[in-house]
Amino acid sequence: MKKIHVIGGGLAGPEAALQAASFGCEVVLSEMRPLRSTEAHQTGEFAELVCSNSLKSESENTAPWLLKQEMRRAGSFLLQAADASAVPAGHALAVDRVEFSRRVAELIAAHPKIEVRREEVARLDETDGETITVLASGPLTSSPLAAELQRLTGAEQLAFYDSISPIVDASTIDMDRVYFAARWDKGTADYINCPFTKEEYEAFLDALTTAETVEAKSWEALPTDGAVTAAPVTMNYFEGCLPIEETARRGRDTLRFGPMKPAGLTNPKTGRWPYAAVQLRQENLRADSYNLVGFQNHLKFGEQARVLRMIPGLEHATFLRYGQIHRNTYIHAPSLLTETLQLRAHPSIMIAGQLSGVEGYTESIASGLLAGRYAAALARGLQPTPVPRITANGSLTHYITHAEHKKFQPANITFDLLLPLEEELRKKIRDKKERHRIQCERALEAWDAWLATSRA
Ligand SMILES: Cc1cc2nc3c(=O)[nH]c(=O)nc-3n(C[C@H](O)[C@H](O)[C@H](O)COP(=O)(O)OP(=O)(O)OC[C@H]3O[C@@H](n4cnc5c(N)ncnc54)[C@H](O)[C@@H]3O)c2cc1C
Repeated sequence: MKKIHVIGGGLAGPEAALQAASFGCEVVLSEMRPLRSTEAHQTGEFAELVCSNSLKSESENTAPWLLKQEMRRAGSFLLQAADASAVPAGHALAVDRVEFSRRVAELIAAHPKIEVRREEVARLDETDGETITVLASGPLTSSPLAAELQRLTGAEQLAFYDSISPIVDASTIDMDRVYFAARWDKGTADYINCPFTKEEYEAFLDALTTAETVEAKSWEALPTDGAVTAAPVTMNYFEGCLPIEETARRGRDTLRFGPMKPAGLTNPKTGRWPYAAVQLRQENLRADSYNLVGFQNHLKFGEQARVLRMIPGLEHATFLRYGQIHRNTYIHAPSLLTETLQLRAHPSIMIAGQLSGVEGYTESIASGLLAGRYAAALARGLQPTPVPRITANGSLTHYITHAEHKKFQPANITFDLLLPLEEELRKKIRDKKERHRIQCERALEAWDAWLATSRA
């Protein structure tokens, strides 16, 4: 039997290690803390929750609930630890973070098949035929390891920042000022276009370039040498996710020839192209929210509210989410990963957790659970069976491995990722809650069947 090397003692790593060990595999778990820390972790403990203490909703038939139910049925070790450390939090599962970490550490220490190494891994050996590697080093993967991953996958396949565009409540858009149109009338007119006159554009540009930005935290600087950069820092951006205010500073027409390009967007009211335009893209299937295309930014939230309401049609908009940019290392999973979380080019190396393109604590643990089970199968010379698409776990995997290539960004579990009901059933059942109930019921059935047949 091959050995399994799990890199990262955060959320995905310990779950993967415990799962693989529960199948009788020999596991080495490497964690660099406390020898070297990340910019967000504060302890040397396993399963440290770096920010909130919530593992999201426990309300029946919600997507986060479904994900957790599946994980519980598969015997997730970290969810057991979470359940045992739960604190009152309404409909959410929130934990006492110290107790949670302590319980995870206890499980690892008690397992005879797991050897813990406190070391920073800086090299991945894709030629080692005796080891299955599960890379779960997270969104703040140390620089030497990130460089090593780039060597294996290609430099352009690893993102260091996650950028989020603002989202607006559709019912608060002034539809008399905006219009639906497809650029050059190609395809369906799905985008809402907010047209600017020259004067509106100039005023907007002035406001955007002088608005107050969020101060860059020291850990947000792009890692270069493995060291945490001392504040103050200059943010380093890849061109692809440059904040809109930075693009605007490059020249007064840069936005008009970039994200605010009006070419081909004929306004039906004037029969002409506007001077500039902001495009709004439908955010979810319900079409009750839209995101501002290309408007990732690093402005303070109050400033975003003020400046973005200068966009024609958004004068009274309610923002459901503001734009953000933060450090998040993740691979381009749609081109790199198989459905069993293996690198296509190097199948003995698997990627789990946030690094694989899932987002969130629970999603990272879930990804570790799958990776641990798949790794155990591979270590025993078996072909792992991918989890069914219809389940919440399968939907997350399907998203990261099949998302549209250009737009790939990490995602939480939501109903938008789950397989919708057939058209006929959707027409018959108008009640959304009932539809979700059926989706969950079907997912759990498929999950149980998969569990029954996939035990390595
Ligand atoms: C600042 C911040 C706040 C977040 N807040 C939330 C939140 O509130 N809610 C939420 O659901 N999600 C949040 N996330 C997103 C995500 O859920 C967490 O980052 C989660 O911890 C990811 O789990 P993981 O196991 O993939 O990575 P991690 O939990 O980060 O674990 C990775 C581990 O790998 C170790 N490591 C890194 N490089 C090496 C190396 N070279 N050798 C050995 N070990 C290494 C790290 O020390 C770390 O312990 C946040 C992310 C960040 C960065």
